[in-house]
Order: sequence, then C-alpha cells, then structure tokens
Amino acid sequence: MPRPAKSGHNLDATLEAGLAEREAAGLYRRRRTIQRRPGGRARLAGRDFLDFSSNDYLGLACDPRPAEAAAQALRDYGSGSGAAHLITGHGPEHEALEQELADFTGRDRALLFSTGYMANIGIAQALAGRGDTILEDRLNHASLLDAALSSRARLKRYAHADPAALAERLSTADGRRLVMTDSVFSMDGDIAPLAEIAELCADQGGWLMVDEAHGLGVLGPEGQGAAAAAGLGQSEAPILMGTLGKALGGFGAFVAGSETLIEHLIQHARTYVYTTATPPAMAAAVRRALAVSREEVWRRERLAENTRTFREAAEAQGIPLMPSSTPIQPVPLGDPTRAVVLSRALESKGYLAQAIRPPTVPDGTARLRITLSAAHSVEDVRGLVRVLAELM
Ligand SMILES: *Cc1c(COP(=O)(O)O)cnc(C)c1O
Repeated sequence: MPRPAKSGHNLDATLEAGLAEREAAGLYRRRRTIQRRPGGRARLAGRDFLDFSSNDYLGLACDPRPAEAAAQALRDYGSGSGAAHLITGHGPEHEALEQELADFTGRDRALLFSTGYMANIGIAQALAGRGDTILEDRLNHASLLDAALSSRARLKRYAHADPAALAERLSTADGRRLVMTDSVFSMDGDIAPLAEIAELCADQGGWLMVDEAHGLGVLGPEGQGAAAAAGLGQSEAPILMGTLGKALGGFGAFVAGSETLIEHLIQHARTYVYTTATPPAMAAAVRRALAVSREEVWRRERLAENTRTFREAAEAQGIPLMPSSTPIQPVPLGDPTRAVVLSRALESKGYLAQAIRPPTVPDGTARLRITLSAAHSVEDVRGLVRVLAELM
C-alpha cells in the first residue's frame, strides 16, 4: 500500500509552493525559444524583433566568418573533443587559441575553460582556501560570489566601486587575500576603479583578479578590456578572466596571466581538470572572431556611437539612466512588476529588452537592462528610445 505523502516530504508539492510564491512576487522566470538573426535581430514565434538584450556587443554571434571556421573545423576534427584537456581533449585549435589570447591580452599565457562560471570557480578554489580571504565588490556577478563560497575562504564584500571600503577590509583580512571584481558590472554597466584597486593590492599584498566578461572586445584600443584601458598589465592585474560567449560571439572562457599562474591552475583548478574540453570547432570559431574583432575597429566605434546616441536621446526624453558609459545601459525602475510590464510593452512594439529583477540585482532595484550592439544602426537605437519614451 502506498504511504501517504507527508507534507514537506513530497517533492512536487513542496516545490510548487515555492514556485507560486515566486510568481506572486513578480519574480518568476520563463524561457522562450529564440533564433538569433543578423543585424541585432532575433526571431520569436515567427516574428522578427530588434534585440536589445543580448551580450553580442560586436555582432559576431551571427557573423558568417566564425561560423564558416567552425564548419571547417567540424569537418576536420569532428563534433566533440572526446576528453578533458589533461587527457586527450586538448587539440591544435585549443592550443592556437590559447596562444592568440595570450598575445591579445599581453600575458605570458592563457588557459581555456569551458565557461566563465567555471573559470571563476576554478580560480577561487585554486588560489584560496580555509584561512584565506576573498574580497569582492557587492555587485559582482553571481559566479564570483559562488566561486568565493565554494572555495571555503572567508568572503568579505565591500561597498560597490569603493576603494576606501576595500582598503579597510584588506588591512584586516587573514591569510592569502584574493580580490575579485567585475571590470564592467554586468547589470549596472559601470566600470570598476581598477587602477585604484590595483594600487591597493600592490601596497597591501592582495592578489587582483579581474573578470572582463563585459570588457573584452568592447573597451581598450583593440578591445583588450577595461584593465588594459586603465593601463594595467600582467604585473598590476595578474589574474585576468575573459569570456568568449559575449563580445566574441562564441562560447567558453579563459584565464590569462603568468606562466606560473597558468601551471598552478592546470594542476589545481578542479573545474579545469574534471571536465570535457569544449569542441575544437568552437575554438576555431573564436579564433576567427578574435581576429575579426581586432581588425574591424569600426565595430567598437559603432558600438560607442550607439551607446552615446542612446544616452543622449534618452536624456532628451527624460528617461532615467544609470552612470554607465558602456553598452550596458540599464533603465532603473525599482519595482519588479513595473520592469516586467515595460519589457512586455516594448515587445509588443517589436523590441526585446530584459527585465532584471531580484535576486539578480538587490531588492528594490529592478530595471530594464538595455544592451547595445555594433550590429544595431543608429536608427534602430533612436527607434527604441522613441518607443520607450511613449511607454514610460
Ligand atoms: C556572463 C558572465 C560570466 C559567466 O560567463 P559564462 O561563460 O557565460 O559562464 C562571468 N562573469 C561575468 C561578469 C559575466 O557577465
């Protein structure tokens, strides 16, 4: 005879209560099936939208050249890498991409990880542990927070973009001190005060790790990122993490730094050791995208122009903005339901812009996250602002 389900022990009943709560709070998340299209567009349920919600800053996710490089590599090497990098999964495309990324970032060496999330976890676990301290900006990406929590080091968070707050915490921290920060904050778009943070780390013996997920390809003369734009090389910003799925339009991530750092990560980063290498075709696609992003300076110029156009037009319409000079341009709204309603209204007019709600951002700071791309025309951007002004 089946036993009656005890409340709290029945899986679905317990989970359903939590889901209903989330729905009632306006925090429920839903996926949709979307096809990315050239020109900063996306197709949804048979209709084309202007997409202002992707991280495809340079418009390379749909560029035919990386796709063709991947197609060629698929024919040459097959679909899978077959093993972890340390076993037999590390192929010529991976090796070449690592060398090109080291050259690009001006570091001794680079090491590929399967995702940025995994790179961050691997860095924290390999460089800090019990008795050590990881210091993080309060608005860091979730993967950096999870990285610190999983390392068993003590996590100390400091006030957003506040070197004085970091200095105070650094001076009282125990053990090894690892400072981890977004370079461009993913939900706010502002840039960390990297030069001041690097100086503090140099003075106090902290190890600086910079997450360039949103800086790479976008900032700096050839798109080397915010650290490079601030004049920080390997000795000032010794642990550099970049992702390949945003401006470079592919998938994956890397860490760049000294020969010794990379050797240490190969030995100790568990998210590097215990996972399958990404398919060689993806490395081939990213190699091509990296070359295109370095050569085609117009993409960064167009992106900067679109960002300026958005801010000027929005300010003229009285649309509230946040202090961001990057392609991440949030419109602060506060209330999560308001953010969702505005996002849906924009969609009915043919524009995609994501409502960002807690817990991704702090309570009371829900927003519309608008991201610009080199794939958009200035007219696309003006159209967005016009519709936004009507709806707000
Ligand atoms: C997207 C992102 C990551 C994670 O990178 P994935 O390759 O998508 O796992 C890490 N840090 C920041 C700041 C990000 O925005």
